[in-house]
Amino acid sequence: MSLESLARGRTHQPCAACRMLRRRCDSSCILAPYFPCDEIDKFAKVHKVFGASNVIKMIQMVEERNREDAVKALVYEATARIRDPVYGSTGAICQLQKMVQELKMQLESTKARMLELQQQKDQFLGILLNVGHLDLLSPINGSNFSLGYDDSMAYDPIKFPAECDSWIIN
Ligand SMILES: [Zn+2]
Repeated sequence: MSLESLARGRTHQPCAACRMLRRRCDSSCILAPYFPCDEIDKFAKVHKVFGASNVIKMIQMVEERNREDAVKALVYEATARIRDPVYGSTGAICQLQKMVQELKMQLESTKARMLELQQQKDQFLGILLNVGHLDLLSPINGSNFSLGYDDSMAYDPIKFPAECDSWIIN
């Protein structure tokens, strides 16, 4: 090998695709931008699943600005197909759809539970407000007027905590 060809070899390494297909790789190689020489495995996957000529056709079918994404999708699909020969990427899609469904159901039951707790809170607040209201009307707050209210049942805020304590102790 001459020095010139050695130098050329150093400046232009064949891409992963050309290396695998044992063909000459030059600056017009359509696969070179997407399958650099150190990514043999990436090309091996798409070649195994789709075949090199189909990969070239699929890349040619899309506009240049979309080719990188197209190659990424092909590699993803090929990887999924190798991993799961029955369902391929459809397996992953179905699994994710199932997860979305389960999460939707969880969300619905959480919403229902939240509504239930909100109603309980409103009821509780309603009870508390009514208790406060009755307290304002009770004879203990002054005035002589009585609506047949039994004084023995009157709530004594000073005595009550003490009694309460003794109940807890006993
Ligand atoms: Zn090439």
